[in-house]
Amino acid sequence: MNRFVIAEASKCIGCRTCEIACAVAHPVGSGAQALSPQTFSPRLTVVRSGSVTAPILCRHCDDAPCARACPNNAISQTGDSVQIDQSRCIGCKTCVVACPYGAMTVVSVPAQAQPGSFLTSLRPRAEARKCDLCVGRAEGPACIPACPTKALHLIDQETMAATLRRRQEQAVQNLAASVTL
Ligand code: SF4
Ligand code: SF4
Repeated sequence: MNRFVIAEASKCIGCRTCEIACAVAHPVGSGAQALSPQTFSPRLTVVRSGSVTAPILCRHCDDAPCARACPNNAISQTGDSVQIDQSRCIGCKTCVVACPYGAMTVVSVPAQAQPGSFLTSLRPRAEARKCDLCVGRAEGPACIPACPTKALHLIDQETMAATLRRRQEQAVQNLAASVTL
């Protein structure tokens, strides 16, 4: 089972600290350009609907619709997560339409100047973006410890099994309290 991060909407206060932690963990380029209003591009989005707020982020679906839809095989199952190979992404946005959670975006990345190259004259590059579980970050996803209300959780096989067990036990209690034939 793939791991994923999920929010408890009842604890979310919509402060967007998770977005900032995500953007800081995924700088675009280097130096002053790495984190600026132009390059601020978190891989999760805090959404408000009525009185409820929660970050929307990739669920790393075990049979990922985005991976099935991508015409250039840029999205694949990698270990226990779904990852994007940016070298294959052509920015077609098919994955954006295919994702049932609205967790995928395609952004325009400024061309990076290379010493001695003409790259600065090139057009910006398109990249598909979504939560990558902060792959390569030893401490795990940066959003989780940043949340001031502890609304974010990493779900793996173990925590999923424990949640399932709790729900089943609760269902048995409810049955005992409500059903007499
Ligand atoms: S940091 Fe936590 S409380 Fe703030 S918006 Fe994100 S999930 Fe909600
Ligand atoms: S935008 Fe990129 S990752 Fe998404 S479907 Fe198109 S090529 Fe694949």
